[in-house]
Amino acid sequence: MSASTRNGQHQQHQNMIPLGELLKREADDEKVENPEVTHGQANHSKKGEDFTMVKTDCERLTGDGSATFSVFAIFDGHNGTAAATYTRENLLNNVLGAIPSDLNRHEWLAALPRALVAGFVKTDKDFQERGQTSGTTVTFVIVDGWVVSVASVGDSRCVLESAEGSIYLLSADHRLDCNEEEVQRVTACGGEVGRLNTGGGAAIGPLRCWPGGLCLSRSIGDMDVGEFIVPVPHVKQVQLSTAGGRLIISSDGVWDALSPEAAVSGCHGMPPDTAAAKVVKDAVQYKGLRDDTTCIVVDILPPEKVEHPAPPSKKQGKGVLKSIFRKRTSDSHALEKDYSEPDVVKELYEEGSAMLAERLDTNYPLSMAFKLFTCAVCQLEMKPTEGISVHASSSDTANFCLWRGPFLCSSCLSKKEAMEGKRVSDGGSSSGSASE
Ligand SMILES: [Zn+2]
Repeated sequence: MSASTRNGQHQQHQNMIPLGELLKREADDEKVENPEVTHGQANHSKKGEDFTMVKTDCERLTGDGSATFSVFAIFDGHNGTAAATYTRENLLNNVLGAIPSDLNRHEWLAALPRALVAGFVKTDKDFQERGQTSGTTVTFVIVDGWVVSVASVGDSRCVLESAEGSIYLLSADHRLDCNEEEVQRVTACGGEVGRLNTGGGAAIGPLRCWPGGLCLSRSIGDMDVGEFIVPVPHVKQVQLSTAGGRLIISSDGVWDALSPEAAVSGCHGMPPDTAAAKVVKDAVQYKGLRDDTTCIVVDILPPEKVEHPAPPSKKQGKGVLKSIFRKRTSDSHALEKDYSEPDVVKELYEEGSAMLAERLDTNYPLSMAFKLFTCAVCQLEMKPTEGISVHASSSDTANFCLWRGPFLCSSCLSKKEAMEGKRVSDGGSSSGSASE
């Protein structure tokens, strides 16, 4: 079953994890007890468009009660609730459906970033096929042992406070107003970005994308705004030290009123349900109830420490938002590093590109675990001749990458090209796609 027994194609043996290393890691894992994960949530509603999802008993392997993980998510809907409720119902299944079966825990965690991208895009595509308007932000958090994986589109956020007292932002901010890179991407794909024009020549409010006037550059749904508002999530994966930490997941109703530092310090020492209520109360008190204001607090603590002590204040850098993570790491071998530094939050993965060719590709040796002739987005099984390489584009048929997986079905390829502003065969509206 190991790849080294395969014939034919040249295998990159230097990328393989030696069996001894794998066994050592499994042994290390058993030595480190799993954390106690507790949570609480609170909401003060104005429009009724914020939704949450909490599942604490998900199984990596069906029927194996020992391989469990938890999911915590916030969906902040706009222009209706259909996209938010549809995503809450379907996203997790779509993500899990994109992970090959029979992976060990390390492989499962390494496969997760790509599966999150596939699951988000499939959910968006399926929802759009229902022809309903509305859209939603998604902040989707998977806690597996001490590893936290966050996938996000839109402007809800996930903040981590480590037990050492440092604060990390685990989600991206896809507001056009504060993300120049996204403004450029949307513009390059044919969207127009500008402020609301009141008619008298004065432009007011945040940057918006036209047509539609959405302030976000990524979301699920929003088919009426344009395909360049993409569902491809920013994904960040970190490993906490065995001292643990606290996650604060909130909609923009909280973050428009409170800085991450203020949210964290305002609920120190409180159990998660009280903490979540305090964050919502602080936000509403500060700005008034201007928007749906929702918060989930998740504590990830060593089993003996569930008493929620205030974190030590002696450490340097406490209470200051840290952005020490490398901007982009395609270092898919980060999981191979050993666990020799117990006291720091370790980044395992971060990627935010909107390009599916970058997000669905993988250099990780387990790439052969993904079935070659299955659509990398919707998991449709295809005949070998049906799949189209994710590296292909209709204007670039001579590219040698055409023969390289992962592959997409024609429907998902069409979705990809639309998201990248390249759709040419869209029922006659093919004019004006000459921006390249
Ligand atoms: Zn597909």
